[in-house]
Amino acid sequence: MEIAKDLHIIPDLEMSNACLITGPEPALIDTGLPGEGGRILAYMEQVGVSPRALRVIALTHADPAHSGSAAWLRRETAARLLASEAEAAVLAGQVPEGNLRALWRWGLRITRRPAERCLVDGVLEPGDEVAGFQVVETPGHTLGHVAFYREEDGVLIAGDALRVSGSDILAPSFWNSASEVRARVSVSHLADLPVTLLVPGHGNPYREPGAGLRRVGGPPGILEETLRRRALHRQRRGKRRSTSRGGAAPTDGAEGT
Ligand SMILES: [Zn+2]
Repeated sequence: MEIAKDLHIIPDLEMSNACLITGPEPALIDTGLPGEGGRILAYMEQVGVSPRALRVIALTHADPAHSGSAAWLRRETAARLLASEAEAAVLAGQVPEGNLRALWRWGLRITRRPAERCLVDGVLEPGDEVAGFQVVETPGHTLGHVAFYREEDGVLIAGDALRVSGSDILAPSFWNSASEVRARVSVSHLADLPVTLLVPGHGNPYREPGAGLRRVGGPPGILEETLRRRALHRQRRGKRRSTSRGGAAPTDGAEGT
């Protein structure tokens, strides 16, 4: 289903959105659950994109609902698989799932269908371009999460950096974030962009989401200050502990765990 110029949502995926960008350099953003690759290829053929024509598969993050068919699609197409460095490490199985709280909560549902481990062909950096979309860092839901923004018409493919529930736009909750504070800082940055169409990782696209985005984003200064204070507090606590034990000061741990 084409929802904006050259931008299609693959229809009938079980629980998440995967986007096909047509045009001179066709690209796929996210890949659904394991076992959904065939459905994605069938839709691509339907709109005239052959597996050999696909140039890039880019991931917002490595959760199985988004990266589940990445390894399979990489084998079946000519595309290079791209993800941020942190998500690439999860995909390769070098570090645990990025979102431990969600894994704990949804464990059964997720672990029943784990994503196939694989290596990426390249790392996404902020500002990189994928088929006319710019990579925007949006850590929080997972630590290496990225979104994709097309300046030309204000389309934002947000992955799980944002959630749409009915007419509400929501930031990832505590239970669905590696770091809730980082997730909210990311939303506040997204709220600064002129977005005309928001495509979330789950649920329906949302047109003209500006007011809702600003409401959920809040002023970034306050959130960044909270994040800075937490880091400082953790650092001090670490120093106090290491002084009392006489050991070396620990390095900064994972946010929010
Ligand atoms: Zn996710």
